[in-house]
Amino acid sequence: MGLAATAAPRKLFIGGQWVEPATGRSFSVVNPATEEAIVEVAEGGAQDVDAAVQAARKAFDEGKWASLGPGERARLMGKAADLLESKLDEFVHLETANCGKTLAESRIELTLAAEVLRYFAGWATKHSGETIPSRPQALLYTMREPVGVVGAITPWNFPLLLAMWKVAPALATGNTIVHKPATLTPLTALKFAEVVQAAGFPEGVFNVVPGPGATVGEAILAHPGVDKVAFTGDSATGKRVMRACADTLKKVSLELGGKSPNIVFADADLDAAARGALNAIFYNKGEVCAAGSRLFVEEAVKEDLLGRLVDRAKKTVVGDPLDKGTRMGPVISKTQLEKVLSYVEAGKKEGARLSTGGDRPSHLSKGYFMNPTIFADVKNSMKIAREEIFGPVLSVLSFKDVGDAVAQANDTMYGLAAAVWTKDVKKAHRVARAIKAGTVWVNAYNLYDAALPFGGTKQSGFGRELGRDALDPYTQTKSVWIDLS
Ligand code: NAD
Repeated sequence: MGLAATAAPRKLFIGGQWVEPATGRSFSVVNPATEEAIVEVAEGGAQDVDAAVQAARKAFDEGKWASLGPGERARLMGKAADLLESKLDEFVHLETANCGKTLAESRIELTLAAEVLRYFAGWATKHSGETIPSRPQALLYTMREPVGVVGAITPWNFPLLLAMWKVAPALATGNTIVHKPATLTPLTALKFAEVVQAAGFPEGVFNVVPGPGATVGEAILAHPGVDKVAFTGDSATGKRVMRACADTLKKVSLELGGKSPNIVFADADLDAAARGALNAIFYNKGEVCAAGSRLFVEEAVKEDLLGRLVDRAKKTVVGDPLDKGTRMGPVISKTQLEKVLSYVEAGKKEGARLSTGGDRPSHLSKGYFMNPTIFADVKNSMKIAREEIFGPVLSVLSFKDVGDAVAQANDTMYGLAAAVWTKDVKKAHRVARAIKAGTVWVNAYNLYDAALPFGGTKQSGFGRELGRDALDPYTQTKSVWIDLS
């Protein structure tokens, strides 16, 4: 059975208690490296969402959280961060067994999750309104008030980290939460509820209801007791979320998909750019919303860089994510693997040159493994350059000059992230300005800091997570006018 299975809580966490689901049902959580079920988890339904929203509503309306005061909220959040870190190994094993990410990748994710919690705990005592000195005969000021009950709906690629991106700013600003983790990956969210309980959070402040998007997710979107939905996931689901939230005019923030351009100029340090480009697409098996899935290379160095990429990709150790030597684990599920492989077929059909990978590793008979895959001679109009694959497949394209690079990079419905590799500082700044994306890295990729806002433009969504910007969407402004005349 192993640590992962025994350490996983299996019930719903509602109103500070571990409860059986009203549905009476459970579902299997599968290890993608072995294809075996590791644990059965309680499946929530609409009735359970209602119970969770009522618990969160009560905690909010009775002031069990907001009225504790920001100092006490910060203290409890800090305690949760400490507890998470003290159990880091358990969390890491659970995430690896559930997601197929390597132990090193899980450690980075979980360490960042604790950091995010601690960073926003710091904001609890600092986020404030202002006094407005525009009237001598009046005192005008604003207050930042919590919005109320937040429904957090999260995906399977960084299960606990992306939950903390929402939970931490929501808690810091005094909101209460109903969290629905992705059906494929509920384990660390449930384990985090144990941490919340042990830290001594008031009951109802944080609730977890695992279950399908079609039932649990939809029930959160429809519930009149939810004031805001914070969603991360596919752009198509994001549109559905926004439509459904319109009925009760919930506030919405959306972190959606991407097809991010990674631009390498001929004057770049090509060795660093090659390492960066591989990290950009193969980190977490390409299951990264900001993955650098379109690599644009200046024509003069196209074949040189491609050679370096293919050499290194072929040496990538694909296998059991629990082995320390493994560099890439399995894709999250059978369905996702089939989807990624269908994109490989589409790429071949449209005339892209398959330079390496495209298949499953022959030495692994079980698990949803796939070799790192690189297509050269890709055109921006091809399906593999337009659609988010969300797997280890890189499309390599070329460009003539700065204008051409920027035009092709921006020719996408997405606008989440981008990177530029060059030694020319002016060029780096020009491109960073011209790219339509929420984040631009220069001579780097996939770097995140709790204090630096992250989010998308165009069909990659709106609202920002992390940094100070993340606080405002969890609060509303109240204006107070005191007549002094
Ligand atoms: P998904 O949209 O299928 O699911 C995301 C969450 O929404 C899950 O919890 C799911 O159960 C729920 N859901 C599904 N249908 C729903 C419905 N009708 N109502 C309410 N909830 C519903 O996405 P996924 O496959 O889990 O994750 C991959 C996607 O997430 C990719 O597109 C990726 O780019 C995106 N993503 C974006 C970011 C970002 O910060 N921008 C980060 C990570 C992942």
